[in-house]
Amino acid sequence: MEPMKATVFHSANNIRVEEVPRPSAGVGEAVIKITLTTICGTDLHILRGEYAVKPGLVIGHEPVGVIEELGEGLTGYKIGDRVLVGAITPCGQCRACLSAQWAQCGHGEGVEAIGGWRFGNTINGAQAEYLLVPNAQANLAKIPDELTDEQVVLLADIASTGFSGAESGNICIGDTVVVFAQGPIGLCATAGARLMGAGFIIGVENDPVRMKMSKHMGADVVLDPNDGDLVLEIKKLTGGGADVAIEALGIQQTFENCLRCLRPGGTLSSLGVYSGKLQMPYDAFAAGLGDYKIVTTLCPGGKERMRRLMAMVQSKRFDPTPLLTHTFSLDQIVEAYDLFGSRRDGVLKVAIRP
Ligand SMILES: [Zn+2]
Ligand SMILES: [Zn+2]
Repeated sequence: MEPMKATVFHSANNIRVEEVPRPSAGVGEAVIKITLTTICGTDLHILRGEYAVKPGLVIGHEPVGVIEELGEGLTGYKIGDRVLVGAITPCGQCRACLSAQWAQCGHGEGVEAIGGWRFGNTINGAQAEYLLVPNAQANLAKIPDELTDEQVVLLADIASTGFSGAESGNICIGDTVVVFAQGPIGLCATAGARLMGAGFIIGVENDPVRMKMSKHMGADVVLDPNDGDLVLEIKKLTGGGADVAIEALGIQQTFENCLRCLRPGGTLSSLGVYSGKLQMPYDAFAAGLGDYKIVTTLCPGGKERMRRLMAMVQSKRFDPTPLLTHTFSLDQIVEAYDLFGSRRDGVLKVAIRP
């Protein structure tokens, strides 16, 4: 079997680029040659040993590439097609998928929480020269000629996830929306809130680069959480509480603040990845009598989601490229992880070119 270079997880704080066997496509599968990928905040959790994956796994879940090999049973694709594949790869056949819960795909065996997230989680991922795509018929989204790899790579995960925070929050035209944390996903949630028709958007962030980008992505006001009484200020700016609060950090304090700054009957749309225990103080929750809605979302995937997101870029309604701040080769990926993890040098997302 021919070798390829790939980013392999060995143990906490130990990932290396090394040679592994190149995959080949079985029935219903495809192999793509990766032309561009990136590093996700979730990959940092994996690197630090905070989210367990098996040693020896190739990590990464944001693939853009060219079809190299097509397994049996696929129609409508040819070798050389440029494709975007979502971070989440639903099978399109199981109980979860056919109940429109693509992200919770059980791949033929029913429903499984987080089951749709396979790349760099339960199967080899995208930070490599080649990637095996399972259930390829449901997951290969052809890239329109006029779009570059850089314009689409962030749609695989962060734009899909961020937008879904706004969609799950069911934002209506004219709503007031507050987005807690303006990292890459929070910034996409801000952009999503604008696209959904929010009337007034507040970003909450203290990093100067991210504060500036928040305005660029659609925030009307950006508040520093360390500056004065944040909840009071949000209640003042929203006339008594926001219609929708989006949590994009995954810690107790922001979850709680989301609840506290909602109007009665408002919606908390949670995108954060939490660890340990998440508590709900009775006062923040109006003792259970505030008619609040709490919704959570895992990144929607599948080729139709990717097609829709690419259409948004093509029509110039959304431009993800300002979020790609640095470029590295695959050989330099450990260095890229270090920069991304330390948030040095105004980094938002790094482009990785094999
Ligand atoms: Zn991710
Ligand atoms: Zn499925």
